[in-house]
Amino acid sequence: MLIEDFVTLTIRKQKNIALIAHDSKKKELIEWCEDNKDILKKHFLCGTGTTARMITDKTGLPVKGYNSGPLGGDQQIGAKIVEGSVDFVIFFSDPLEAQPHDPDVKALLRIAQVYDIPMANNRATADFMITSKFMEEEYNHKVINFRKNVEQRATTL
Ligand code: PGA
Repeated sequence: MLIEDFVTLTIRKQKNIALIAHDSKKKELIEWCEDNKDILKKHFLCGTGTTARMITDKTGLPVKGYNSGPLGGDQQIGAKIVEGSVDFVIFFSDPLEAQPHDPDVKALLRIAQVYDIPMANNRATADFMITSKFMEEEYNHKVINFRKNVEQRATTL
């Protein structure tokens, strides 16, 4: 049987959006959520613990909270990307302050790249993403076929 190198995955019309902001960026992300509330309420929202809680408190949007970022929240969201239950990420990271959980932040960026997940790291990118025509449509993208990858590695290594 011929196994393809890539598989086609679909980001559905109703997206699973993860929201994360480092401390100095939380205010900006909450403002952005408020400005885009009408769009965001059509999707499933989740986020790292403090960010999720603050967005819900300040905007009323339902946001499922994972652990706080420094306590593994970024890794939980990365795992959800791998499982296919997060397919859109807004992550306002702080470029001017060292983070204790920098390896986790890098891991999340990397896994989002591997799975071809749209990810905004600042407000301008988030604005372009949220106004994209694909917000109202399904989006098919090609992702590396890990079944083939494992099969090949298991038989050749
Ligand atoms: P927090 O985590 O939402 O719990 O503050 C965010 C982060 O620092 O990655």
